[in-house]
Amino acid sequence: MTGFVFGAATHTGKVRRTNQDQLLTNAPMFAVADGMGGHRGGEIASAMVVDALATAATVATIDDLIEEVQEANVRIINRGRLDRELKGMGTTVTVLTGLQRAGPDRLGVANVGDSRLYRLTDGTLCQHTEDHSLVESLVRDGRLTRAEAAVHPQRNIITCALGIDERVLVDAWELVPVVGDRYLLCSDGLFNEVDEDEICDVLNSIGSAQAAADELVDRAVTAGGRDNITVVVVDITAADIGDKPPDDRVIATHLALQDPVSTVESPDTDALDGEASDLQSGQYRHESVPAIMTRRLVLLVVAALIVLAVLLTAIAA
Ligand code: MN
Repeated sequence: MTGFVFGAATHTGKVRRTNQDQLLTNAPMFAVADGMGGHRGGEIASAMVVDALATAATVATIDDLIEEVQEANVRIINRGRLDRELKGMGTTVTVLTGLQRAGPDRLGVANVGDSRLYRLTDGTLCQHTEDHSLVESLVRDGRLTRAEAAVHPQRNIITCALGIDERVLVDAWELVPVVGDRYLLCSDGLFNEVDEDEICDVLNSIGSAQAAADELVDRAVTAGGRDNITVVVVDITAADIGDKPPDDRVIATHLALQDPVSTVESPDTDALDGEASDLQSGQYRHESVPAIMTRRLVLLVVAALIVLAVLLTAIAA
């Protein structure tokens, strides 16, 4: 069974009045959620997804994990429909869990929005999740560099969140837990204030997971604290994995790509509170969709040609 030692910290920051971030440290389940939406909405949305994960039935597979996140999404949407004051609330979620299954130990990761999961292995930090954000899609298209994205004024605009669209698609990964690996889950209030080299230094130099989490939050507050900051640090202390793990730890990836057609304002400034209620649903693109579309298109063209041939034959006759 995978062993976990963990620490966590959260802070409202210096600018915002409330902390709409939520965290979960209920081994083997760990999560960070960053809520958005006016008034109490953001707090409620992030609390709802964390509660759903905390009370989830056995999560044995990556599909179970995706399902839990999708069910939380529907619950948030329904709650928003019942209460006008909560309309348009949404939340990010990044979750890391030990999959409770027979056979070698595995970790499940799921992500919606721009909270992140990093892994520190042998002193090197790597980001596992891919932000669902406008700047990330511009980087992917080669229109922004990584460095430009890090300071872009619109870096708080996210393209996907729970609570917005019933068809929310969830990025997910199945990983091999390796003793000595350290995972970091965090909201954007950390990495927008503290650069990755500094995050890496802190994770490398502080042995205790709790002390490392506290230090990261302290540094983000000191650097400006313009947003809520939430950090969960998880150390893998035992794991029964069988074979040699792949270097990147990843043994399965389920990427739900999304077009940046509609965007969600992450409430990084108070002025943006409540804006999310004016959202339109996004256009989603899933890996398996293009193949289905292509097949349907071919059938449609063939059908049209047959009709045309019949018509031409009738006219000629
Ligand atoms: Mn945030």
